[in-house]
Amino acid sequence: MANIVIFGAPGVGKGTQAKLLAEKYDLLHISTGDLLRQEVQMQTPVGQRAQAIINRGDLVGDDIVVPLLDRALRLRSTHPDPDSQIDPWDRQIHGAPHRPEGCIIDGFPRTVPQAQTLEFLFRRMKRRIDLVLAIEVSRNELVRRIHERAAISGRTDDTEEVIRHRLDLYDRQTQPVLNYYRVSGLLVSVDGSGEIPDTNTLLCRVIDSKRKKQTLNKQ
Ligand code: ADP
Repeated sequence: MANIVIFGAPGVGKGTQAKLLAEKYDLLHISTGDLLRQEVQMQTPVGQRAQAIINRGDLVGDDIVVPLLDRALRLRSTHPDPDSQIDPWDRQIHGAPHRPEGCIIDGFPRTVPQAQTLEFLFRRMKRRIDLVLAIEVSRNELVRRIHERAAISGRTDDTEEVIRHRLDLYDRQTQPVLNYYRVSGLLVSVDGSGEIPDTNTLLCRVIDSKRKKQTLNKQ
């Protein structure tokens, strides 16, 4: 099993968990938030368009985020010569010579149309999403964690008002994505209220059991 989507509200700790899982299972970690922040930091045309939107806590348009994701996904293509599909600029940004087989996607999809787009991108690569992991934490705990993170992250979108807006957007636009994946049978929810290693243990348990089932099915 190779391709995982990690899902949860802002502040739930999905970036931290995604990194741990990527390391343990040798997956390429693709965070659309990180990709966007990288563009902003480099002051690329895309970054310049995205900056104000991110600072307000709004979702950037699909015309901005989808090409970034598409490019990152193509980096782990199983094409015999993956380098041939990648321009030098891509290589410079993402450039690790090692290309893991699978990936863990964090921050995408955030809307139902984005979920449909993701399916399309995977189908085009003749691949599929194997598992959607949702991390669940109460609203109070989320706000507490984002405030804690704000003190060290230096993120321009971690202010009181913007945090509230991001959480509202999550409820309105992103929550429905959970139903989308529930219906497709890919969704497994995990309690994220514990410490980082506790949540990690729960997530690993889900992945291991899914892998075992897949191996049994193949036999
Ligand atoms: P968090 O999970 O804490 O909200 P992220 O790093 O995932 O943080 O995202 C930060 C910001 O980047 C979002 O508030 C949004 O403006 C933008 N962003 C990230 N992913 C997407 C996406 N899939 N669609 C639209 N905007 C996105």
